[in-house]
Amino acid sequence: MIDRILQKATDGSPLSKDDAVALLNIKNTSADFYKLIAKSNELSRKAYHNKGYIFAQIGINADPCSGNCKFCSLAKDNFSVDGRYEKKRDDVIEQVKSINLNMLSALFLMTTADYDVEKFFKIGSEVKKLLPEPVTLVANIGDFDVSTAHKLKEAGFGAVYHIVRLREGFDTDIAKETRLKTLDAICTAGLDLYYCVEPIGEEHTYEEIAYEMIRARDYHVDVMAVMSRVGVAGTKYENVPEISELELTKIAAVARLVTNPKQSMNTHEPKKMSLLAGVNQLYAEIGVNPRDTSGNTEMNRGRSIEDIAKMLLDAEYTL
Ligand code: SF4
Repeated sequence: MIDRILQKATDGSPLSKDDAVALLNIKNTSADFYKLIAKSNELSRKAYHNKGYIFAQIGINADPCSGNCKFCSLAKDNFSVDGRYEKKRDDVIEQVKSINLNMLSALFLMTTADYDVEKFFKIGSEVKKLLPEPVTLVANIGDFDVSTAHKLKEAGFGAVYHIVRLREGFDTDIAKETRLKTLDAICTAGLDLYYCVEPIGEEHTYEEIAYEMIRARDYHVDVMAVMSRVGVAGTKYENVPEISELELTKIAAVARLVTNPKQSMNTHEPKKMSLLAGVNQLYAEIGVNPRDTSGNTEMNRGRSIEDIAKMLLDAEYTL
């Protein structure tokens, strides 16, 4: 059965949810595991012309967030970041100037869900002026309507990172419908949608994971990712086991085959092993993020642009 599904992927036929679940059920120590990652690797190297992509994200504020995601260090009910802050526009500009923009394909600006969107437009338009032409400016913010989506575009954003999280509405205080409306607004405004299946933990079924892969395909995403859930200290999931790197590698390979993104496939946080399985894009991070209790993740969990470049070059991707 696995051979038949992999042949469908080779032929460019869309994989069904059942196909995805069958692939996800492959044992990580089996021969089929290597068939799976070999196929994903083969298709990625060919489709992406062996090009690797480096993305970077800057976290702008560390404030208790009403999204209240139970796995996130910024959630209002379990805020566990080592301090609150909000970067001024000039601070963000200085941070952007300090990084090697010529190595990047995309720069993300991230805020918590309650951040003032007008302020975000202003910062975004200033940052856009600093970016070399090929670098896409990407928004990673709370939910919004079509009017805001158009304003993001006017401010210079070319894409938005937005998803329906696993167990949205159960592990978060945000309704799934709200997330879906934002996804639709992004597409209506003509912004690119960057998607991810996240945050994947041992608590999720393969059916749940496969469902989000199919959703990404239905939205025709060109930039796809999978991300594992971190057991952040102080959150509900602090002591719930995380998935292994081998498991994330398998999930990345399946997501690559099911979603068939046109530009790139990512795993987060950056993992070298996944570069054997069709992943050709990784993120550097600066400032706060939901997986870290340090407000400056570049000093803790986050990887630098130079680290990411080395990982991709070690996998013989070209930059
Ligand atoms: S994941 Fe995002 S929306 Fe959820 S609590 Fe954290 S910052 Fe807020």
